[in-house]
Amino acid sequence: MASILDRVTSKVQQQERLTRDDALELFAVDDAIRLGRLADQVKRARWSDRAHFVINRQINPSNICVLSCRFCDFAAKRGRANAYEMTIQEVLERCNVELREVHIVGGLHPDWKWEYYLEMFRAIQANFPQIQIKAWTAVEIDYFSKKFRLSVEEVLRQFQEVGLVALPGGGAEVFSERVRKALFPFKIGAPRWLEIHRIAHKVGLPTNSTLLYGHMETHEERVDHMLKLRELQDDTRGFTPPRGAGFMSFIPLAYQPGKTQVVARQPSALEDLKTIAIARLLLDNIPHIKAYWVTMGEESASVALHFGADDIDGTIGEERIMHAADAASPVSLTRDHLVELIRESGCTPVERDALYHTIQVYNDHAYCENSVPQ
Ligand code: SF4
Repeated sequence: MASILDRVTSKVQQQERLTRDDALELFAVDDAIRLGRLADQVKRARWSDRAHFVINRQINPSNICVLSCRFCDFAAKRGRANAYEMTIQEVLERCNVELREVHIVGGLHPDWKWEYYLEMFRAIQANFPQIQIKAWTAVEIDYFSKKFRLSVEEVLRQFQEVGLVALPGGGAEVFSERVRKALFPFKIGAPRWLEIHRIAHKVGLPTNSTLLYGHMETHEERVDHMLKLRELQDDTRGFTPPRGAGFMSFIPLAYQPGKTQVVARQPSALEDLKTIAIARLLLDNIPHIKAYWVTMGEESASVALHFGADDIDGTIGEERIMHAADAASPVSLTRDHLVELIRESGCTPVERDALYHTIQVYNDHAYCENSVPQ
């Protein structure tokens, strides 16, 4: 009988979609190198040897949060020594003329007014018109909708009017009620997260998607999570701009144990690479698979570019959420460092914006502007 890798190779050649069982069997294969090669083949058919990155900055305006999810090292209650909140001026001080994207997420702040959030975006737009704003997880959008008595669509539309161009993929964690009840019982579950992204796609906001893995979830739950994303992407595929949008990327996030003691250590590099490869093979309708260097580490992220990933995120600037959980990676990387990292892995660095439009292609020691078709 043919091995699972033989069967999946044949499906890939015939452009046949992988099933839940295929993906589960792939998690059990020993030959991770062959799995990676297959995922790389699929990635290259779409993106050649390109690896995307962005000059970006993460801004977490406050860690004060009304919830206390068990797996979270980032959030704090007001009055605690580590609690902080930024003024709009402090948000602006984290922006500069080099940035293409800001990624803004934070705690569910108990007191901030609706106008504060809108004003933050207006100020960024006014001072740094070249920056694209990617902000607020579905968890935050749900919170704003309830707190300020606005529909999700209205929340998104008002943010769009002041500069929001995309949603990040956070807050999805893993779409399992079992895990949700154990680790984040008061946070929205899969149906609401998917509903909010569906509405975002409908109003023309592209979004990203994530999976937090390596804690207490099973491989079945990981695969079911990916399949729910694939299903939503199938549904919203017809909403292509200007009528709508879909998921731009899938970002597997390796869980950082920090002080929560949910697990003793973060997933192995092999587990990271297999997850990336299976995502590339299973998620045939999500264009970009990201190897997020903050959680995987630079070394694994560069290897992941040969396991199906075509993106390693960006310069980041100041990562607080994973580093609150003791992530071992640096808090930021320079553009030169990212370019070098990608080159060393044998790929061509492609600088992009928040919407995956090409800014520069770094061919050898030169670059040519906008030369990669999207
Ligand atoms: S995971 Fe998000 S919602 Fe939960 S406590 Fe942390 S910041 Fe708050």
